[in-house]
Amino acid sequence: MHEMSLAEGIRGIVENAAIAQGFSKVNAVVLEVGALSSVEIEALRFCFDAVMKGTVADGARMVVETVAGAGWCLPCGKRVPITQLYDPCPDCGSYQVQATEGTEMRVKALDVDSTAGSVA
Ligand SMILES: [Zn+2]
Repeated sequence: MHEMSLAEGIRGIVENAAIAQGFSKVNAVVLEVGALSSVEIEALRFCFDAVMKGTVADGARMVVETVAGAGWCLPCGKRVPITQLYDPCPDCGSYQVQATEGTEMRVKALDVDSTAGSVA
């Protein structure tokens, strides 16, 4: 399942960050999900809860921030907003639109309980 591998990727990022930054509990994981990324949010949420069990992010909330999609229309020679992959250009109706923005999902931020104290 696509979402399961995404959730496992998120877990890897969270665990690496926990080691690097010395936190022991994650309250929330903030994700940026592009409108064109084909990520099923509800499926991802289900996988997220499953793979985070027993980790520092066990029980953490998954917060999703949606990033709008955009593409480059070849006939128009400009950037145009699109809401789904393979949408036609809203200006000229052409399907020669290459998705350029909102195609990815990434971990934007972690809300953590820091136990390490200040390093300053
Ligand atoms: Zn166009």
